[in-house]
Amino acid sequence: MRLKIDITGLVQGVGFRPFVFKLAEELGLRGYVLNNATGVLVEVEGEERKLYDFLVRLDRDRPDISRIFSLRHAFLEESGFSGFEIRESTDKGDKRVFILPDISACEECLKDVTEPRDRRFLYPFTNCTNCGPRFTIIERLPYDRKNTSMKNFSMCPACKKEYHMESDRRFHAQPVACGACGPWLSLYDREGQVLCEKEEALEKAVNLIRKGYIIAAKGIGGYHLICDATSEDTVRRLRQRKHREEKPLAVMFPDLDAIRREMNITPMEERALTSIERPVVIVRKKTSASLAASVSPGYRNAGVFLPYTPMHYLILRKFKRPVVATSANISDDPIVADEADAFARLSGTADYFLTHNRRIIRRCDDSVVRIAAGRQVPVRRSRGFVPMPVTVPFKFSTPVLALGAYMNSTIALGIDDRVFISQHIGDLDTPLAMEFYDRAVEDFLGLFRVRPGVVVSDMHPGYYSTKYGQRRFHDRLFKVQHHYAHILSCMAENGITGDTRVIGFAFDGTGYAPDGTIWGGEVLTASYSGFKRVFHLSPYRLPGGDRAVREPCRSALSLLYETLGDGAAETDVLPLARDERLFLINMIRKDINSPVTTSMGRLFDGIASITGLRHRVSYHAQAAAELEQLALGSGEKGSYPFGIEKGNIVHTPMVRMILDDLKAETPQEDIARKFHNTIVEIIVSTAESVRKETGISHAALSGGVFQNTILMEDAFNALRQRGFVPLVHQLVPPNDGGIALGQAVFAAVHLNTAQSSLP
Ligand code: ZN
Ligand code: ZN
Ligand code: FE
Repeated sequence: MRLKIDITGLVQGVGFRPFVFKLAEELGLRGYVLNNATGVLVEVEGEERKLYDFLVRLDRDRPDISRIFSLRHAFLEESGFSGFEIRESTDKGDKRVFILPDISACEECLKDVTEPRDRRFLYPFTNCTNCGPRFTIIERLPYDRKNTSMKNFSMCPACKKEYHMESDRRFHAQPVACGACGPWLSLYDREGQVLCEKEEALEKAVNLIRKGYIIAAKGIGGYHLICDATSEDTVRRLRQRKHREEKPLAVMFPDLDAIRREMNITPMEERALTSIERPVVIVRKKTSASLAASVSPGYRNAGVFLPYTPMHYLILRKFKRPVVATSANISDDPIVADEADAFARLSGTADYFLTHNRRIIRRCDDSVVRIAAGRQVPVRRSRGFVPMPVTVPFKFSTPVLALGAYMNSTIALGIDDRVFISQHIGDLDTPLAMEFYDRAVEDFLGLFRVRPGVVVSDMHPGYYSTKYGQRRFHDRLFKVQHHYAHILSCMAENGITGDTRVIGFAFDGTGYAPDGTIWGGEVLTASYSGFKRVFHLSPYRLPGGDRAVREPCRSALSLLYETLGDGAAETDVLPLARDERLFLINMIRKDINSPVTTSMGRLFDGIASITGLRHRVSYHAQAAAELEQLALGSGEKGSYPFGIEKGNIVHTPMVRMILDDLKAETPQEDIARKFHNTIVEIIVSTAESVRKETGISHAALSGGVFQNTILMEDAFNALRQRGFVPLVHQLVPPNDGGIALGQAVFAAVHLNTAQSSLP
């Protein structure tokens, strides 16, 4: 196993390389460390357990004066280093394109705000050269104060002195500020009356949280809705007002010890929680957790994180209990990021507004990750990670703009050998989301000062992103198939090079395919030059199309119809009256608004409904997520039968056995677990069959379905056991938030091919 770590920061000339060398020697790891244009690159190889140690200790024990702004790491296939060496520095990499992400508050700044004698005592916008906002305050490059939203605040003499003193921690820190000269907090009521300001506002806000009120608090990349996470009443009220009845809410804890008391966390999860990016980490709740049940109803997991600005830190330190801190938006609209918007859109949700007068130049939601199979898998890659690039194993001969898909959308820019992926934009189905999308594209092009030579979109003619591409870039627009783009993104971030072929498992809810059906349970053989569909779920119909996405019982009925034919009308496992069943079966049979699909996501939905777990959903992939939660409670090792016929993965034998299990009153969680085990077996057996035929041994797992930890971990381990090299996502999400990377890669490769074939 190889671990590749790409660090951006002040890590040169501070004894960092000797430290890395010693650590690698001590753990018996092979590889190298080298200085590059923006920091250091480290690759180490050895036993997996030792690599985890290395990663954890690299963060924990590094020289005090070294500063890390971003640390991207991925576990990759071994490449055969001998010994450990400090390599010659390279200047490789474009320094011009260098915008830092928002960096969580450093220890020293947190010390400043808690030291009563310090002039920044309780000042919530304290930052220094090593920490503070970047991406969200930059208007344009170069990164100078006059080009940031700090330009309206002129430094007081004391701040100016620090700014100009080379020995100071705030030497040339662009957002440097203090209570005398910088931004300040104001607390408003719902009518827009200012109640108090500065320290008083913070103090009062905490008191209001304690009393059970919901506060809209302006942070780095937008507003959060904050409330007491231990009060069932309060959290329930938040859900009602936010129209978010069931989706889990993120919880911010005062410190790591508080998280340890309530959650079962592994060393890798602990590392993720305290990492410079400070993402929300999805971890396992203890049964004794004091969180209100409504925080993540029905879930064994919860998304938790630590304060990452002095403001959040001061609130939590005073409150001493966990708070819900969820992106302030209504339903699927983008996160609220300015005052006018906050009062207009949140006055029905928040009781009070804790705002400040530093403008947010670009929105940026919190990032979300989970640890699965020992890998940090992004669920949402945004604040802290953006706009750091993913390095790919080839070069863009012209800048490429990738437009993403539709759900969880992001866009990407390919420049040189890097892909810069935007912050989370969201689902493109409200006018506000589309407006944010337009702005994000313009913003990225402006920020990186490029004109794209090639633009890539999904093939779906109905996606806003595709239409946008056609409208704006029709003269240079390429389209790439959705599931192929998923697999390409997984290949690229895993450093696959040349004409290596992989078996691609692209499992998701929906994707447009050239044959007019909806794909989503696809096994491809793929290389950078093209792909072939070798297996897929056997097709079934979705009565009502999009309505079937919201109503898993429709997928369920269709699966029953495939299995039992007209007999499906007589089964009573679904909460549908007999004439409803007949009506839907009629739609399926006569092909009335019932598109054909091979979607794995809908199969999960359908099984969740057949087992009686959920028939209608209030958020995307809810049924599948709940099925996973249920399966976590079972140790069942068995699985269901399935068939493989002429490229079809036949699910009817499985459905039949599930019906038998239901009749035999097999516990629901055991059925859920057996279903998961079956999908793992499908992966392994189709992989075996492809390998026999082609000799391919790399297996890439991509698509939103692989956010399912059981499925991802079990498939990963099973594939490995049989001698495959499983490739999983570690730098971009497996869901459609990662698809722009694959699209960009498609353009890079096909452009290069075109170039090399020129005389
Ligand atoms: Zn700092
Ligand atoms: Zn000042
Ligand atoms: Fe997808």
